[in-house]
Amino acid sequence: MTGQVSKSPAATDKVALDAPIFDPSAFRLNAEQATIIARARELGQTVFAGRAAAYDRDATFPIENYRDLHRAGLLGISIPKTHGGLGADYQTYALAAAEIGRYCGATALTWNMHVCSTLWSGPLADDLDMDTATRTEHERRRATHYKRIVEDGAIYSQPFSEGGAAAAGGVAFGTEAKPTKGGWIINGKKIFASLSGHADYYGVLCTEMAEGEKASRRNTLYLAIPAKADGVSVVGDWDPLGMRGTVSRTLLFKDVFVGEDAALMPRGVYFQAAMRWPHMFLTLSPTYMGLAQAAYDFTLRYLRGEVPGTPPVKRRMYPTKQIAVAQMQIKLEQIKATWFQAVTEARANPSKEQVLRAYAAQYSVMEGANEIATLAIRTCGGQAMLKSLPLERIYRDSRCGSLMLPWTAELCLDRIGREALYETGETDD
Ligand SMILES: Cc1cc2nc3c(=O)[nH]c(=O)nc-3n(C[C@H](O)[C@H](O)[C@H](O)COP(=O)(O)OP(=O)(O)OC[C@H]3O[C@@H](n4cnc5c(N)ncnc54)[C@H](O)[C@@H]3O)c2cc1C
Repeated sequence: MTGQVSKSPAATDKVALDAPIFDPSAFRLNAEQATIIARARELGQTVFAGRAAAYDRDATFPIENYRDLHRAGLLGISIPKTHGGLGADYQTYALAAAEIGRYCGATALTWNMHVCSTLWSGPLADDLDMDTATRTEHERRRATHYKRIVEDGAIYSQPFSEGGAAAAGGVAFGTEAKPTKGGWIINGKKIFASLSGHADYYGVLCTEMAEGEKASRRNTLYLAIPAKADGVSVVGDWDPLGMRGTVSRTLLFKDVFVGEDAALMPRGVYFQAAMRWPHMFLTLSPTYMGLAQAAYDFTLRYLRGEVPGTPPVKRRMYPTKQIAVAQMQIKLEQIKATWFQAVTEARANPSKEQVLRAYAAQYSVMEGANEIATLAIRTCGGQAMLKSLPLERIYRDSRCGSLMLPWTAELCLDRIGREALYETGETDD
């Protein structure tokens, strides 16, 4: 608990809002950023927190939360203002997503897939090289996607994973887009496709391949495939340890036609982004920043005897509990500091130091959230990990973070070690 702040006018009478994870004045956020982030926090605390247990128990998608996100303008958080969105930059989005993750991990993680469809095609694409004609065409196409989101509440997802090395960035995607008159024919399979069966558009990464051509990562296309298109199907079940509300089932594409306007980025621009804007892959971490804060908040409340629905028994007077809380607070501040710096310096062409810091931030958040949740369970004890309380869900959800490709905890370690020791092109021969 970072302390209580006064109720905002829109909050319910009974709920005193939690203080922001990142205090706007301490972290030098401007008023516009603070307002957007507060909107996310308020929605998370007053509405999403109360629904989270049911989505988790039943492994159902938080569709009601998406209707609320739309009403609050947050489906369009990163859509440029000229297209009717809130125009939030990378840092503002990341801080808002952490606040949502604090109250419902599955909503924050799926919201990330949706928002990235707009962040990558929006402010991120604006940083990349395109000739004038390509940029004009991109502007026209993205207007269509943004209008659907802002006006109709359309939901986008990001199914990239295929079960091979493609989602880790190692090889070209196996899902293929064959050029045809007016568009492409898509064939392929995506696993762990969050929002499957609930998104209106699947933002699929696939490899454009003309007849007889070899697959190349340079020819990656990023296409929004309508969920209702002929040849799209959702298969398999979804009954995982954590992040159960993400409903990440398998998607199949069999001879699916999409027109050229399905492109979320022009030809070659996704590859350019992956090379020049690496922080694009750090966007899965805000959810887990929020979960780390949530585990800490819960522990303070529990030890103070202030968790609603539990007897007002205080446990804070035991020195062992105090030491555990101190360890959690230190870990939390370490994570916050590294992560805040990394999301603040996200940009095109970052320095080597900034890229290594981004990996370190991802690793720290993804592993650290679960370490804090583990300490929280040990410290609060058996009664605190009953399913009637959020801690055990936070613990399970937080375990999933370091598995997210392309920056899994293992791959971050791998890259930090290699890139710290070798300059580009260096070998030991
Ligand atoms: C809750 C949840 C939601 C998800 N939602 C989505 C989504 O919406 N869209 C999406 O695209 N994906 C999503 N994913 C998928 C995720 O990114 C992984 O693709 C997924 O966890 C499957 O990974 P795996 O461990 O089976 O991968 P594998 O490829 O089997 O990798 C296993 C481990 O080996 C390591 N590894 C993999 N490749 C390499 C390499 N080249 N070099 C060294 N080590 C390597 C990594 O540490 C990895 O964790 C989601 C996953 C979860 C858990």
